[in-house]
Amino acid sequence: MPELPEVQTVLNGLSEALRDRSLSALICHYEGTVIIDPEITCSPFPARIMSFRRRGKYIRLDLENEITLLVHLRMTGKLILAKQSDQKCSDEVAAGERPYEEVSDEVAEGERPYEEVSDEVAAGERPYEEVYDEVAAGERPYEEVYDQVAVVRHSYEEIPELKHVRASITLDENGLVLFNDPRTFGKIWLCRTENIEYYLPELGLEPLADEFDRHYLGKQVKTRKAPIKNVLLDQKVIAGLGNIYVSEILFRARVRPDRPANSLSSNEIDRIVKETKQVLTEAIALNGTSISDFRRIDDKTGEFQNYLRIYQKDLCPSGHPVTRIRQAGRSSFFCPCCQR
Ligand SMILES: [Zn+2]
Repeated sequence: MPELPEVQTVLNGLSEALRDRSLSALICHYEGTVIIDPEITCSPFPARIMSFRRRGKYIRLDLENEITLLVHLRMTGKLILAKQSDQKCSDEVAAGERPYEEVSDEVAEGERPYEEVSDEVAAGERPYEEVYDEVAAGERPYEEVYDQVAVVRHSYEEIPELKHVRASITLDENGLVLFNDPRTFGKIWLCRTENIEYYLPELGLEPLADEFDRHYLGKQVKTRKAPIKNVLLDQKVIAGLGNIYVSEILFRARVRPDRPANSLSSNEIDRIVKETKQVLTEAIALNGTSISDFRRIDDKTGEFQNYLRIYQKDLCPSGHPVTRIRQAGRSSFFCPCCQR
């Protein structure tokens, strides 16, 4: 499951690839993946991306026109930037008999915008906006709309490793970002920026923010008897941590994950805060951890899995056998010699 460093890695990739660009469509291929704020009553596209941010494990793109795109990858979600060859293939399908270059040239000459050619094929006679509005209003089942966006379906079927595309985001100049998600827990919300609080849950401090310090964590653990691992996983206390990084942080801080939170000394709290910042900073620099299926937007893997010290290990770096226990339904790994 992607945690803060993986989400930050995806965000870094998006902000590099999509800087100064506009979104021209958001298409849902799996019912429930895309959620549209009922207060958005007409298509907000095309819309320029004004900022790229992360909050906890959420990716937040603020668009012009006071619109925000929020993405949560959940367990298996991936955002993949379609390669140029894939897009070319897509355009050939879109334009029927006509070669991609020809359509492209016309756009360059400004005779007909690409969207127009694409939409005629995709939606038959009907303008794109009409289809979009119906999706937003939820009046028609997605399957029916899906047939009308066959152009996009063809484009990702050409990418053999992407079999579970749940949504696609089209960009200006024929760019395409695919949301692939086998388990279907991932979500994309499109909302009015002023309604963002309604779509984001209550989240605690960002662990890399200066406000996340020994005083803050000390206050949080003081009244809790729950294991320290559970407190660190609580998104309302700290936003963005998950099983892998909490395991690594507690190993480096030399604290057992099953210790009651209120039993920690101020030195231990201090070490946890420092190691949280250290582990996350290292992991972001290495583009996250690809243990299961996390990928960057260019489909490359992260590297931090090569630097894990305790998570899914048999021996700790000092050669002691690692103990594995179940906590809150998840595996915890710790070294009974190195961690107290
Ligand atoms: Zn050890």
